[in-house]
Amino acid sequence: MEPVIGLEVHLALNTKSKMFCACRADTFGLAPNSSTCPVCLGLPGSLPTINRKAVEKALRFSLALHCQVPETTQFHRKNYYYPDAPKNYQISQYDRPLGAGGFLELTSGRRIGITRCHLEEDAGRLVHPAYADYSLVDLNRAGAALIELVTEPDLRTPEEAREFLVRVQAIAQAVEVSDANPEEGKMRADVNISLRRPSEPLGTKVEVKNLNSFKSVQRSLEYEIKRQRRLLEGGGRISQDTLGWDEGGQKTFLLRTKEETADYRYFPEPDLPPLQIDSTWLSQVQKAMPELPEAKRQRYGALGVRDYDASIIAYDVALANFFDAAAAQARNPQAIANWLNGDISGWLNAHNLTISATALTPALLTELVALVDDGTISGKTAKELLPEVMQGAAPSRLVEARGLKQVSDSAEISALVEAVIANNSAIVATIKTNPKAVNALLGQVLRESRGKANPELVRALLNSKLGLG
Ligand SMILES: [Zn+2]
Repeated sequence: MEPVIGLEVHLALNTKSKMFCACRADTFGLAPNSSTCPVCLGLPGSLPTINRKAVEKALRFSLALHCQVPETTQFHRKNYYYPDAPKNYQISQYDRPLGAGGFLELTSGRRIGITRCHLEEDAGRLVHPAYADYSLVDLNRAGAALIELVTEPDLRTPEEAREFLVRVQAIAQAVEVSDANPEEGKMRADVNISLRRPSEPLGTKVEVKNLNSFKSVQRSLEYEIKRQRRLLEGGGRISQDTLGWDEGGQKTFLLRTKEETADYRYFPEPDLPPLQIDSTWLSQVQKAMPELPEAKRQRYGALGVRDYDASIIAYDVALANFFDAAAAQARNPQAIANWLNGDISGWLNAHNLTISATALTPALLTELVALVDDGTISGKTAKELLPEVMQGAAPSRLVEARGLKQVSDSAEISALVEAVIANNSAIVATIKTNPKAVNALLGQVLRESRGKANPELVRALLNSKLGLG
């Protein structure tokens, strides 16, 4: 049975003000309910106005996902009754979304269809104090601008779903429409998943709501695939439910059954006329589009960077910015990519940091790479220096202060090689029948030089002194 997966992603736009009023949108750290006004509190007589910047950002994002943009788009009221919605409805979009019919390509080359991309306002936040018999409402987030993106059910594995989200995040950051940071609630996802037997129509799907990390998206899908497969293979049936994800227990749980699903009674927002998007405006937005990750990937390929490395860097905005600055000064862009995707990524993961939060600069990394490239230090020494370089130490100064320079002076190494040959006559005697035994001598020379002898030079000297090819 094949999994059929679709995603619904919410991105908080990084506009200064909210979607339909002038209140500050980024309210992180502010006192509860301090960034509110009659519009976002839903007071009678207040009227919404459309935030033009939010529309432009949503247009830019839609175009980046290859969506079609209609000449006229429309806001609708989505009616529901809940304490986080002061107006008892949310202004959203319904049958005339801002973008539709796009796609996003995965590493495999598979294109995942984007059904729609629309603008809406966020809800407030409920706070449930421990042991209290009441809840608190904070409306700072109410009315903030959101993009909702809905995919076709084109994804087939939990890994693909995760990769899709990584790419959406990278695109949102690259075109500067959202911080798209799941930890801060700036990117949230709902997934829907069903299983189908080959050549059968779609099975019954369930929805898992409010996933706030890429890992929980992947885990909840893995869990649901197992659960549904077991149920179907045992002759059972899937019911079309809405589920939540229990992070502690790593399992899904029932939120509501199909019968409980709300009817939102959508109707056109009477306080906002349909919004015209003329071709001049749209082409201005297209012209101001920053470079997309896919274009970056191709540009890195043209610099000689392997596709695997180019893909990873291009779809991580912080890494890409760093790479661009370092590669501009480097003779060897692939070496920069190797460091970023290898030891530096390892160090960042171990310290749970992003590259921009470290003292490493593009100039320091370029310097380290150049020291290896021109034979001043070995790759091994460079790896040993990395932790200090990550904290801002200049590699050339470390090399100088500690006398780590590789010895490439052949007279000095030559004497060392001769001494090792003289002291190891037993090994030397076996080399004629076993040429690989020369490696034992090489190792010894490197040890005696305390790792500072240039290995290629040592090998050349050993070969010539022993009369090897
Ligand atoms: Zn407001």
